[in-house]
Amino acid sequence: MRPRIMTVYGTRPEAIKVAPVIKALEASDVVDPVTVVTGQHREMLDQVNELFGITPDHDLDIFEHGAPLSLIVARVLERLDPVLAAERPAAVIVQGDTSTSTAAAVAAFHRRIPVVHLEAGLRSGDVNSPFPEEANRRLTSQLASLHLAPTETSRANLVREALDGAPIVVTGNTVIDALLTAVDKKPPFSDPALEHLADSGRRVLLVTTHRRESWGDAMDGIGRALGRLAERFPDTQVVLPVHRNPVVREALLPHLHAHPNVTVTEPLGYGEFTRLLALASVVLTDSGGIQEEAPSLGKPVLVLRENTERPEAVSAGTVRLIGTDEDRIVDEVTTLLTDPAAHEAMARATNPYGDGQGARRSVAAITHLLDLGPRPADWGTEGNR
Ligand code: UDP
Repeated sequence: MRPRIMTVYGTRPEAIKVAPVIKALEASDVVDPVTVVTGQHREMLDQVNELFGITPDHDLDIFEHGAPLSLIVARVLERLDPVLAAERPAAVIVQGDTSTSTAAAVAAFHRRIPVVHLEAGLRSGDVNSPFPEEANRRLTSQLASLHLAPTETSRANLVREALDGAPIVVTGNTVIDALLTAVDKKPPFSDPALEHLADSGRRVLLVTTHRRESWGDAMDGIGRALGRLAERFPDTQVVLPVHRNPVVREALLPHLHAHPNVTVTEPLGYGEFTRLLALASVVLTDSGGIQEEAPSLGKPVLVLRENTERPEAVSAGTVRLIGTDEDRIVDEVTTLLTDPAAHEAMARATNPYGDGQGARRSVAAITHLLDLGPRPADWGTEGNR
């Protein structure tokens, strides 16, 4: 029997980034995939699985509205262990920095199953920001038997931490594999307002925000800034696919109801979201994944954070960190909407995060770990960067 490689994931961003890897595992003729979802997110996770045609083998179904982080971690530990015991995978893949991923890494480690960390080595340098992701990713690094670093910068972070000598392979971020697949699909928008907007050719300011460390006053200020921008730029449609978390909704929505040029939607399926991203003039976000995707489509990104674990696009000039101060948000967006040269300077398409081959390299690195194939060349050493 071929060794089984188990992938465990639970949130939308993880689902997007593991989907190309699961597809590559399915296509492998040396290993078999086993897919486990925890259900840390529910609908947003299922939407992505559906888009990529993935049917999980196991669903731990841990979702509960407003569940505190410790309960999420406890449930994953409790419910994953019997699945690990039954499936006996040769390795467990976890992705990124969610509570699901770190809890799954601990559960695998307890069973002495090698942990493969996809998107390893991102560091903001501040354990409290993003919270709890920076801590999660550092903890997972301690347990991993193979680090799949998306970029040279993330590889260097891991080398600096002098971990136990587990191999590091630079793969490129698999989000670019997912983006390149999804952006071609161009599905119809489920919200007629968006279909109408796409036809109208109006300018779009695309906004997403949900980070836990912005809950409270900062999120309130973001809502006020969006209201002011909607008023100042009646020719621009502010589009906010709003996160399911009620804390986020309660902070933002009261500032936006009065404005006809604000479109608030439910979270969009990934195909729809990438279509909207391709239409946008400016992106305002605190999302990690969108910081990686938007530069590939040549979209200027203003990041609602003080720091980032993704410095590559900041260096490339397509991403700027602006924090969450209300006046600063209004000023920075105003500049990009009124100064064509400033917009142009940030709107150059770059691919600092990957070339669409991240999943292929990841699976090759895993089969190499199991002594079943050669080590892949690091991304950036193949003359393809
Ligand atoms: N995304 C989506 N639908 C939406 C908003 C975002 O599919 O309505 C995608 C986006 O393209 C990105 C990912 O979800 O790949 C980002 O998820 P999120 O912001 O929740 O997490 P983060 O990237 O910050 O970890």
